[in-house]
Amino acid sequence: MSQNENEKSHSALGQEFNPNDQDSQDFLADGSPELAQYIATLISGARETNPRSICASCWCFLTWSQKQSHPTEHVEKYLQRPSKFSNSEEFKTLALNYGHIKEKNGIIWFQKIRDKPLTCIQSV
Ligand SMILES: [Zn+2]
Repeated sequence: MSQNENEKSHSALGQEFNPNDQDSQDFLADGSPELAQYIATLISGARETNPRSICASCWCFLTWSQKQSHPTEHVEKYLQRPSKFSNSEEFKTLALNYGHIKEKNGIIWFQKIRDKPLTCIQSV
């Protein structure tokens, strides 16, 4: 039953995804200068004095206080320390492992990490 739902949502995503759409601006193509630049910024951010953690499920950054109000199961299962992002392979592996990618025309598109947690999750 849940497998059917998965298939449905997958095909829906495939149809809706268009790299030129406004909605798809959060994705960067593998091998593109934009992705390289994004990852470089990510890595330098992870080296700051107080780097933010990442929820690999929500694919968002979490400050210390945001982490306190984030769902406990996410913090236990999905929290990634910023030290995970010391090179581009680690970012790509994490995005692949947690499904934050899309494939279009044989190219893998990586989702940018959200700057803030989604409000619907954070409001709990
Ligand atoms: Zn989360």
